[in-house]
Amino acid sequence: MDPKLTIDTTACRRCGTCCEQGGPALHHEDRPLLESGALRRRDLVAIRSGEPAYDQRQGRVVPASQEFLKLAGARGSWRCKFYDKPGGCGIYGQRPLECRLLFCRDTTPLEAVMGRELLSRRDLLAAADPALEWLAKLEQAVGYPEVMELLAGLDRQSSTEASLAALTSLVRADLSLRESFLRSFTERGDEEMFLLGRPLFLAIAPFGCRLVEGAGGTEMQYTRPG
Ligand code: SF4
Repeated sequence: MDPKLTIDTTACRRCGTCCEQGGPALHHEDRPLLESGALRRRDLVAIRSGEPAYDQRQGRVVPASQEFLKLAGARGSWRCKFYDKPGGCGIYGQRPLECRLLFCRDTTPLEAVMGRELLSRRDLLAAADPALEWLAKLEQAVGYPEVMELLAGLDRQSSTEASLAALTSLVRADLSLRESFLRSFTERGDEEMFLLGRPLFLAIAPFGCRLVEGAGGTEMQYTRPG
């Protein structure tokens, strides 16, 4: 018999393609996974409101319409940190809602929940958590509406230089704030991506911005994406 005819197209073959593309966003239904310790805050990354992020429905990077939490990637990539090539999902029995719903041959069940009932950092932090002050400081110092305007300015010849200088200032402010945070909360250093989200220089890298050490310290270089 032709082996192709034996492939079951009605069930997930656990090929890992979805896991390679990125971990899921977390929903309120996933809360018990955090309460039981199956997932920890250090396994998460916050995507802030307005932050450029890949939207699966639109198939492109767009500003996030609301804050959400994702499973973190492995070694600087978006590949889910729980995905292991030979072994598959390391938390299969306790995988989040979106993973349970995702079937690449019929994404209807997943699409029905995408963007709805999403967990945010404030859902998981106590009202008196001192880290909340740092979330507000970061929002004030580095706001994504301004970042997106500056990224648009990079493509206009008349404003490339000024936009890059302003982005460099914001990247420096972001890094400085993170350093202060880590000095104040040494015991919570592994929660940085959950509490403060991705460093700005990483979030804007897909737009052709690269962090370099110049004569005057940390600065951004820009290469128009080809
Ligand atoms: S939690 Fe498991 S199923 Fe979900 S993306 Fe990660 S490795 Fe894949």
